Amino acid sequence: MNHYQGPQDQTRLMTAPIDGLAPELLNQILSWVYKTDARGRNNLAICLLVCRQWNQQGQSILYRDLVLDTGNLQQFLESFDKNALSSYTRALTLRASAPLVEDWDPNETDAQKYHSISFNRLDGWLRRLTYDVFPLMNKLITLSICVMRNQNCKLSKHTLAAVLKALPATCVDLELDTNGKDSDDINNDFDENTVSDDSTHLCEELRRILPRLQHVRLNLRFTCGALVGKYEEDGFNPIKIPNVQQFLINCRRVWSTSQCCPQTISENPSVREQRSWHSLIHGLSHVMDCGGLRPGADVRVLAQSAGSLAHATIKKTLLCYHATEKCTWAYPLATTPLKGEVLYFLRTESGGFIGESRYLQDIIEGFSWITLKTEARLHKDRVRDGVAESIDVTPEEEWRTRWPRQSCALWVNESKTGMLLAEAERRDGPLGSENGYDALQWVVELTPEGWYRPEQTDGALLERVQGLD
Ligand SMILES: [Zn+2]
Repeated sequence: MNHYQGPQDQTRLMTAPIDGLAPELLNQILSWVYKTDARGRNNLAICLLVCRQWNQQGQSILYRDLVLDTGNLQQFLESFDKNALSSYTRALTLRASAPLVEDWDPNETDAQKYHSISFNRLDGWLRRLTYDVFPLMNKLITLSICVMRNQNCKLSKHTLAAVLKALPATCVDLELDTNGKDSDDINNDFDENTVSDDSTHLCEELRRILPRLQHVRLNLRFTCGALVGKYEEDGFNPIKIPNVQQFLINCRRVWSTSQCCPQTISENPSVREQRSWHSLIHGLSHVMDCGGLRPGADVRVLAQSAGSLAHATIKKTLLCYHATEKCTWAYPLATTPLKGEVLYFLRTESGGFIGESRYLQDIIEGFSWITLKTEARLHKDRVRDGVAESIDVTPEEEWRTRWPRQSCALWVNESKTGMLLAEAERRDGPLGSENGYDALQWVVELTPEGWYRPEQTDGALLERVQGLD
């Protein structure tokens, strides 16, 4: 009888399957652990502790598309692996939000001081990231910095300028989405619209690197034509951006359109109320005219018009300017509740879509930047094997088939009158004209002859005018 195998044999039996795993298979398993779940980062970090082989394989996955946020940034800065960073990191995603300040009750103390401490802490981390980490990432392709929605957070423009300066030359995809939360002064609650000697003009910093970039998405507090050219004594001198395949500049701000940079020099100073939208269209038209774009480049500026509470026919409208076609599409928006939630119906030239407000920009940006389940943000052309987070947007046709009774007032009115009442409009008239591609103008919903609106709300149904045959 010789049943006893001894501790050594038992160990071999238990570890043999792990040791014997082909590297490709192990890589697939660890990738799967990482990419299919929002907690994948933590799960993979645990796998790294199993043995040296797992550690090496896991590092390459963990560092490839790095995701940093306020919760893990400090720890990362204290413990990152320099070799892994320079060997593996292709994408860095920073999900910015203001860190909690421990031992400080924001309800009992000066809120401004509390925010100032919190914003400065985040700013300090971002600067360490810029100076300690960026120079090591010599394989970086994508940088995405986004301020999380509904967050009271401020990013210093000065620090963002340092980020752009420190960006490795390999980095050709850039997303910078502060959602308007970038500022010259993160210590102050005041809204500064004026230029001081130490103001940072981010457009100029971006202009320096734009010629090498391929996919760019911007959503900043201010933007202007200086992004794509210099205002000089002889007029506006556009740059060439021959590598840009897609350039999205989002000027939507709450239900309006963002202002121009305070530094903007208008070619026509008598024009007041110039928005970032007008200035960018002006600049991009010049880039287009001097052959500064590659054929087939997709360059869009996005804006919106708020509609009117007093006039139901004036629709909330999203605007999308296409630089290469010198035209703007205006997309009307209906805000009637569907399925008991406030959902939006957006009508575009390629069909209607229903979704929450936060997904509207994904629709007009053509679902171009994708958030993976790991929370990494990449341009869609760079996504090879990640699993994307689902976006809850339903095409109109699919909606009507699946939920025929869930209808919005616009659809009911269109069905009653037998015609489309608010359509996507293509505007390609000359600059400054009513149908001009620079018109920051809403779409008006039709009220056909023989019909009237008993009330001026978005959900009001049309009635027939009495006394008509
Ligand atoms: Zn500017």
